[in-house]
Amino acid sequence: MRDIKSMTPEELTGLMAQLGEPGFRSKQVFQWLHRGAASFDEMTNLSKPLREKLSQTCSLAVPKVERKQVSRLDGTIKYLWRLSDGNCVETVLMRYHHGNTVCISSQVGCRMGCAFCASTIGGKVRDLTPAEMLDQVLFTQLNSGFPVSNIVLMGIGEPLDNFDTVLRFLELVNHPDGLNIGMRHISLSTCGLVEQIDKLADLRLQLTLSVSLHAPDDETRSKLMPVNRSVGVERLFESCRRYFDVTGRRISYEYAMIDGVNDSDWQADLLVKHLKGTPGHVNLIPLNEVAESPFQPSRRIREFQEKLERQGVTATVRRKLGGDIDASCGQLRRKRMEETK
Ligand code: SAH
Repeated sequence: MRDIKSMTPEELTGLMAQLGEPGFRSKQVFQWLHRGAASFDEMTNLSKPLREKLSQTCSLAVPKVERKQVSRLDGTIKYLWRLSDGNCVETVLMRYHHGNTVCISSQVGCRMGCAFCASTIGGKVRDLTPAEMLDQVLFTQLNSGFPVSNIVLMGIGEPLDNFDTVLRFLELVNHPDGLNIGMRHISLSTCGLVEQIDKLADLRLQLTLSVSLHAPDDETRSKLMPVNRSVGVERLFESCRRYFDVTGRRISYEYAMIDGVNDSDWQADLLVKHLKGTPGHVNLIPLNEVAESPFQPSRRIREFQEKLERQGVTATVRRKLGGDIDASCGQLRRKRMEETK
């Protein structure tokens, strides 16, 4: 069985040819899939024989809402979706003045092992499919009734560790016959897989790249993020500079402020040094406490921010949304796993 919702329009056209159907059918099918059709029977402008042929050759699944939480503080909505094989992933809808942003997952679990992150406890179970990434946007929109204008790939998983799937997802979600969300409205966040950053740069997509930096020195970064042990901060910044040179897109650096670990003045100074000559924006994130991890939120966020700003590096402190609904990555899936143990 072929996973029909992961197929590009060109592949659907090929499928229609194989099934002896005219080419224009592929656009009809694509549109149904990207409106969230749950079965081939719903596709009423297709002939019955075609619907039957499709259900014999292709699989079509939709995620189920396992849990939905709405923040009373700011209207943030968090979904835990149950996928067709029983695994769960999280999606968060954030409501901003400039539009609604959906934060989606790219894998079930994660194998990157960052010490402060709930998503990686228990490792990676599997990659998501392009359809499963698309479904998070589609069904968040359908279930909540809020149109989605921006997407961030910042949920569970490392998107660049599921590279081909993510690229295909981008092609699908960007397509004019589908959700038609522009690349400039999409951000991808990575822990810093340098070879994949280089590959992504060469594609010259107009998306925003966020790099989860969290420390400007190898000693601290390697303690927090195992990915740093083999590559190092110098090499990471080389890829970041190259990314900017090739795409012209400013990188945004994520920096979760951890008490006594990465919030010293010398670390702010070192960060400034790394960013010299390449425009970049620093996003300071108040650490979300994870029960399994020993880290505490920093009390020096403003001082750190001022130190950066005084030296010409733009830095913003991220507003915390959904604080009452476990909205930070991996926490809801984690909770559900504990409950069902
Ligand atoms: N794997 C990707 C995307 C998922 S994580 C990446 O590493 O970028 C999304 C962001 O949340 C990353 O910047 C991650 O480092 C950060 N994050 C994870 N756990 C956090 C926590 N407990 N507090 C604050 N930020 C956290």
